Amino acid sequence: MLTLEEALRRLLARAQVTGDEEVPLAAASGRVLAEPRVIAPVDVPPFANSAMDGFALRATDTPGTLRIVGEVAAGSAGLIEVSGGTAVRIMTGAPLPPGADTVVPLEDAEESGRDVTVALTQPGTYVRLAGSDTPLGMEVCLPGALGPAAIAVLASLGIAKVRVRRRPRVAILSTGDELVDPGLTLGPGQIYDSNAAALTAAISEAGGEPQPLGRVPDARGAVEEALRAGAGSDLIVTSGGVSVGQHDHVRGVLEASGSLDFWRIAVQPGKPLAVGEIAGVTVIGLPGNPVSALVTFELFVRPMIRAMVGLGGDGRLRLQARPLESIAKDPERRAFLRVSVWHEAGETLARSTGGQGSAQLRPLAEANALLVVPEGEEAANPTRTYEAIVFGELS
Ligand code: AMP
Ligand code: MG
Repeated sequence: MLTLEEALRRLLARAQVTGDEEVPLAAASGRVLAEPRVIAPVDVPPFANSAMDGFALRATDTPGTLRIVGEVAAGSAGLIEVSGGTAVRIMTGAPLPPGADTVVPLEDAEESGRDVTVALTQPGTYVRLAGSDTPLGMEVCLPGALGPAAIAVLASLGIAKVRVRRRPRVAILSTGDELVDPGLTLGPGQIYDSNAAALTAAISEAGGEPQPLGRVPDARGAVEEALRAGAGSDLIVTSGGVSVGQHDHVRGVLEASGSLDFWRIAVQPGKPLAVGEIAGVTVIGLPGNPVSALVTFELFVRPMIRAMVGLGGDGRLRLQARPLESIAKDPERRAFLRVSVWHEAGETLARSTGGQGSAQLRPLAEANALLVVPEGEEAANPTRTYEAIVFGELS
C-alpha cells in the first residue's frame, strides 16, 4: 500500500496544464487566468471624485461661510469652477470641480439659502484621487479561481474578456451490473448509480468539465471499449471494479491495454484506488463504494484537476479540531472521518455525523469536514486535536 503523499506525488507528476481560451468576463467566475498578472490599462478611479454627498470647496476657505454656485452629480461632464469663497454641491462619485481640493459632507455643513457654513477642514478630505485604488500601469496579480472581487477588479479596469485556462475535460464512467439510473424502478439486486451524479458535481466544483461516458456492465470488453471512448478527454475517472473481485475489470484492462502505475493506498475509506493510463490519458479508478469514491475524489482527483489548470493543493481550508468523543478507525490506515466541525468557546470541535462505513453516504452529506486521523492510531482521541479538511459551510 502506498502512502497518500507518495500516491499523490505520482499522480500529480502526470498532470499537464491545459491550454487557454478567451471568455467574456461575465462567464469567468471560477476560472483561472492564463496569466495572473494584469497591467492596469487605466487609473481606478479614472478621475478625482467625491467620496460623500456634500460640498466641494477650497480647504483654505475654511472655516467660513461660502456661496453655493452650482451642483455636480455622478456622471457630470461639464464642471463648475470653484473659486475663492464659493462651494459646489457634489454627489458621491461626481468629479471634483476644478479649483476645489476638499469635500465637506452634508452632515458637517449648515445650509442657509444660497450659503453654506463649514468648519475647518484639511485639503484632500473625502476626495478619491485618480488612480488612488489602482494606478495606470500597476501590476495587479489575480491568482487562483476568479471570485466576485477579482472579477470586479477586472471590470473596473475596463477589461471585458479574459484568457483563462481551458477547463480539463474529465470523463466519468460507472461500472457495475447492479446499477440503475435514478428515476427508473429498481429490479431485484439493483441499486441506483449515485457515483455518476456525485462525480459530475464534484468535477464541476473542482473546476473541470464533466463528460459522462455512461455506465458499463462488469464485462472486460465493455470496460475496455468505454475507457478507449474516453481517450478524447484530459482525464478519465471511473468508479467501481478496482477491487479484487472476479468482476472487477478496471485494473485488468489498464494492465492489459494501457498501464497501471499503482493501486491500493493506505487511506480509509478508499484503499482500492488505481491509477494508470490508456491511450495516453490518465485514468483514476475510484472505488465503487460511494463514500470511498467521493473521499478519494477529494484527496486525489480534486488536486489533479486543479493542477491541470495551474493551481496547487486542494484549495481547502484546514482547521485543528478536537473530536467530542472517540471515533474508531483502522490503525493500519490514515482515516478521513466524516465530521461536522464548528467553533465554540474559542475551540474548534468535531462530531461524527453518523456511521463511518464506506457505503454510508448520508453522514458524508451531513458532514462539513474530513477529520484526518493518522496511521497507527486506533481511534480519534477526544483529548487532542486533529487536522480537519473543511469542504462545507461552518454552522
Ligand atoms: P466495487 O468497487 O465495484 O466492488 O463496488 C463496491 C460497492 O460500491 C458495491 O456495493 C457497489 O454496489 C457499490 N457501487 C459501485 N458503483 C456504484 C455507483 N456508481 N453508485 C452507487 N454505488 C456503487
Ligand atoms: Mg462493482
